[in-house]
Amino acid sequence: MYYLKYRPKDFSKLFGLEDVAAALKNALKKNQVAHAYIFTGPKGSGKTTTARILAKTLNCENPKGEEPCNECGHCRAVNEGRFLDLIEIDGASHRGIDDIRQLREKIKLAPTAGKAKVYIIDEVHMLTAEAFNALLKTLEEPPAHAYFILATTELQKIPETIKSRCQILHFKRGKKEDLAKKLELICREEGVQVSPSDIEKIISLSEGGFRNAETLLEQVVVGGLDLSRADFSVADFTENLVGNDRRGALEYLNRIFEDGENLSVFSQRLILYLRSLLLILGGVGAEVLAVDEESYKRMSRQAQSLGRERLIFALTKFLAAADLGRFAPIPSLPLELAVFDICAETGAVPSDRAESKEIPADLLEPSGGKIKKEEIPESKKSAPQQEGDLTLEEITAKWESVLKEIRPFNHSLEALLRSARPKETEGGKNLVVEVFYKFHKDRLSEPRNREIVEKVFDSVFGPGAKVSFILGEKKVPLRETEPERGNEDIVTAALEAFGS
Ligand SMILES: [Zn+2]
Repeated sequence: MYYLKYRPKDFSKLFGLEDVAAALKNALKKNQVAHAYIFTGPKGSGKTTTARILAKTLNCENPKGEEPCNECGHCRAVNEGRFLDLIEIDGASHRGIDDIRQLREKIKLAPTAGKAKVYIIDEVHMLTAEAFNALLKTLEEPPAHAYFILATTELQKIPETIKSRCQILHFKRGKKEDLAKKLELICREEGVQVSPSDIEKIISLSEGGFRNAETLLEQVVVGGLDLSRADFSVADFTENLVGNDRRGALEYLNRIFEDGENLSVFSQRLILYLRSLLLILGGVGAEVLAVDEESYKRMSRQAQSLGRERLIFALTKFLAAADLGRFAPIPSLPLELAVFDICAETGAVPSDRAESKEIPADLLEPSGGKIKKEEIPESKKSAPQQEGDLTLEEITAKWESVLKEIRPFNHSLEALLRSARPKETEGGKNLVVEVFYKFHKDRLSEPRNREIVEKVFDSVFGPGAKVSFILGEKKVPLRETEPERGNEDIVTAALEAFGS
């Protein structure tokens, strides 16, 4: 695997992280390496890789300037993941006070093999408050031989007291030039020729992820993937999902299959693309996603139309499909099944193509009522906008702030609204919010809940805002009746598996 084989082993190979590398090398040179660092930045931006290089250099028996030799026993042990004085802790699964207490006991002991004992705590923001307190005590008086590297994707969740004890280094996702450098390096080392146009294509398909780019390059070089056949647009395909057009989506997949594009590459690209849509809903900008303005506009539109809940559902389904794809007797089948789940039956599917309309009882509301859409009279939809009226765009743009403001009042109210979406504005200041479960609607419509929502609306949009809730079409056959964090965790975990 290229991405493993070419994982950077010294500071000079950290393409795109020149600032970070320079800061660390400078500290090594002056013998002023901090005892605690926070490495913060998105997943796949090289935090752990960099931490290992630092651990290796601190322990190298024969360093070359500020670089590890990669030949001595310690360097080799780190590279092979068996160096006893490099301790990697997953903060997500070791987040309690007892875990940190154990760490504090062991940290006093001298290094087993090397000169420095290096602790990498990944996802450190997951630690409990008590665990952070215990960690703080260690950071205040670290043994001379101990070094901490706290890696996180969410710097804002780390207590100020911890931050004040650490040097903070910011990691960014690779730029196009950095990806190109890396791919060229691999081609040189492998002694293969890949045309500049193919390199460019790989970069544009890989959406800023080193691992994606390296995997695609490998598929081209080793697997003989023909990139001229990788022209199908994941954005066009997603259009079918937005329109809930099952037939369109299936036909699109069929065309890809017939045309000979590698479906596993397509599904990987699709997953990356849907993930980008999710990031857009989280407020991530065009710059970070490395897409041009026009694509970004289209992506934003698709993201808003799909909505958070449905997007997460689609991602989960396509991730499962990607997993199955390797073993499926018909390569396109897992993707087709995912499409069946995602594009639920609605008017978009001609009735002669739709299967049975029967919905299993466990998918129905507790009341037993079928899912139905409350129609909004046409006249209200086309009510002319007036000066000072709220637009749906404004509301959608500020929806996240609304949710944040509601949280202190009532957590479950926030959770309920997270699974809803602003649908339209009526007559200026009246917002219609679409919910997908009857009991959500009932609870949100209770006077005290409505009061909280309207109070927050007043503070976000100015006085006089009103809100009403309608029951929308349930497009996604979720089995849970409450919004589930589990879905996101699955997606996060699986995205990590894709190295992005
Ligand atoms: Zn060495």
